[in-house]
Amino acid sequence: AAKHTGDPVRRWTPALDERAGENARLGGEIRMALDSGQFRVVYQPIVELPSGRVAAVEALVRWEHPLRGMVSPADFIPVAERNGLIVELGEWILRMACHRMAGWRATLGPLAPDRVSVNVSARQLARHGFAATVAAVLAETGLPAPCLAVEMTETAVFEGGQAVVTLNELRALGVRIALDDFGTGHSSLNLLQTVPVDILKVDKSFVDNITEAGRSTVIAEALIQVSRGLGLAAVAEGVETAAQAEALQRLGYSLLQGYYFGRPVADPNFALSTAVAEVR
Ligand code: C2E
Ligand code: CA
Ligand code: CA
Ligand code: CA
Repeated sequence: AAKHTGDPVRRWTPALDERAGENARLGGEIRMALDSGQFRVVYQPIVELPSGRVAAVEALVRWEHPLRGMVSPADFIPVAERNGLIVELGEWILRMACHRMAGWRATLGPLAPDRVSVNVSARQLARHGFAATVAAVLAETGLPAPCLAVEMTETAVFEGGQAVVTLNELRALGVRIALDDFGTGHSSLNLLQTVPVDILKVDKSFVDNITEAGRSTVIAEALIQVSRGLGLAAVAEGVETAAQAEALQRLGYSLLQGYYFGRPVADPNFALSTAVAEVR
């Protein structure tokens, strides 16, 4: 990359240069990775209490790079968002997840989860025709629209008018809308007045200290009240211990997701969660 001069605030350091070069390399490799099948999709259970049933799964992308090993989505999704490849990658993830969910419905019957939740980035939402793409994928895979949820962060919705148009189109199809990392944005509650939402995913940061009866607990309790009052489902994210699961259940949360109940895997187990037996 060219040397950057005359910027007194962000000086061009070797570290930044390396990082920019690294991102450029990663960006180029995403194209090849898509073409050579290096991406796969894993699924993390969202468990309903007290039954222990896997009510839903969240689809999460993985990149198995032949040389780098496993590359975290936290590293390559932002790169794919910047270079625009997220549109193609995102559509591939959506198709995989819907195809998989349709398969579970066909083979597992009543044991199948109610829905698969797919992460969608701001760049995808901002495109005209995203809802049409979703409709086409549903038709192609035979998945009923209510068996799909799209997860987006508050900032993705906030980024513009088309995002809200897209959400209304998805809603009209019957697709469920989930707000991800809820409570971490700048206008979480304000957004609930203007955007069609079905599911609040309460961010892990509120769950982390839930057993300490401090601020997080008060906020987590307020958020379950809001979700109830608005008739929305609430999912608590990042549940890692039985104590956290118990505390959340006491506050009224009945949908929990986190390593305690299961990590994201290629072939999730849909048997009733045994972890739940420890939750009183
Ligand atoms: P996210 O959507 O908030 O996903 C939850 C992340 O938390 C996942 O990380 C998941 O593996 C992790 N997680 C789940 N339970 C626990 C827990 O109990 N403890 C801890 N410490 N972590 C937990 P992952 O898969 O590395 O994904 C990171 C982020 O990358 C996601 O955050 C999402 O923003 C993005 N991402 C992942 N897959 C996709 C995708 O298919 N499309 C898009 N657009 N973004 C994706
Ligand atoms: Ca998510
Ligand atoms: Ca999240
Ligand atoms: Ca997140």
